[in-house]
Amino acid sequence: MEPGSGILALVDREPRRPRAAESRRLADFAAAADCLARATTDFREAFAHQTRALAHSRKIFDRASAAARIGVWECALPDEALTWTDQVYAMFDLPREAPLDRSRIVACYTPKSREALTAARSRAIAERGGFALDAEIVTLAGRRRWIRITASVECEGAVPVRIFGMKQDITEEKLLADRTRYLAEFDAMTGLANRATFEARFAALDRDPPGRSPFGALLLIDLDGFKPVNDTFGHAAGDACLVEVAARLRHSCRDGDVVARIGGDEFAILLATTAPGIAEEVAARLIAALSRPMTWTGRTFTVGASIGIARADGRSSADLFVAADTALYAAKAQGRGQFRVADAAVDGAARPA
Ligand code: GH3
Ligand code: MG
Repeated sequence: MEPGSGILALVDREPRRPRAAESRRLADFAAAADCLARATTDFREAFAHQTRALAHSRKIFDRASAAARIGVWECALPDEALTWTDQVYAMFDLPREAPLDRSRIVACYTPKSREALTAARSRAIAERGGFALDAEIVTLAGRRRWIRITASVECEGAVPVRIFGMKQDITEEKLLADRTRYLAEFDAMTGLANRATFEARFAALDRDPPGRSPFGALLLIDLDGFKPVNDTFGHAAGDACLVEVAARLRHSCRDGDVVARIGGDEFAILLATTAPGIAEEVAARLIAALSRPMTWTGRTFTVGASIGIARADGRSSADLFVAADTALYAAKAQGRGQFRVADAAVDGAARPA
């Protein structure tokens, strides 16, 4: 039978002829029943249409949220029951059917992120506001991820009843940003600070009040006989040599010192200490360390280093750089493998290793 059509049957034990008024009422009743049946059909069709539209919207939402790696979360207050969309389960590497225990989820956040999340969430609830936070998690499968959380608090009257928002997996974006920042600040081959970072740190000399400089001396280092490594063993050997030089420089300095690669085989060190005699000691140590033989894929080669030192004595950074460079030039000119101190009465020769 067609939905919406129907049969109205009135049965009586005795045949009888309805009176005119009864016939009219019966006709009215039949018309009303027909009208109701049609309305029910319309409603069913509208309902089916709405259900299809909802399923379609849900499919689009699921696809879009998977592509954007965004999920929706909700936490009831005060019992803290969680509700997540599939994408949030995927973010935490949690099976869809697994129960959501908030304390187990909170334990996935790294201590620093957990602290930031707890503070932001408490503030948002207290102020009936919201927050946005980038947080690091270790998923239940042991993977590290960065997620961007947005949250809003919903109230009934003045009482917070729910906190909800979105979580987005921003791991790739975060790694890319970290890599970009790293490349902007560090020399990709050696991992030392690059020239831009060196210059930024060196410029502090012009900003800080006299006597408050964060470093005491500038050492400019240029390798001796580096070109022959390239020419004899090839560019890859030269690169490996620079990486080894960087490791030895770093090893010979302290944490507060800035060790930078500022050119091909040129390096600069900003020494954190202002104690007298230390720059010379460090320079002698560096020369000894850099002149030790290096091995690379079974081959052995040796380079050396010449160093120019200029003490931070109130000169501008530009003047100090020129002074150290002049001292370096003098060390090269006077036979290499030694250091010279700019404008100093006593220049030093390299100590033997
Ligand atoms: P000196 O004793 O006078 O300092 O001479 P040197 O042989 O050390 O050579 P110099 O300092 O004049 O030139 C440095 C060379 O370093 C020139 C360049 O081809 C090479 N170089 C610059 N950057 C790189 C690099 O990234 N990798 C490699 N393998 N070589 C580089
Ligand atoms: Mg050189």
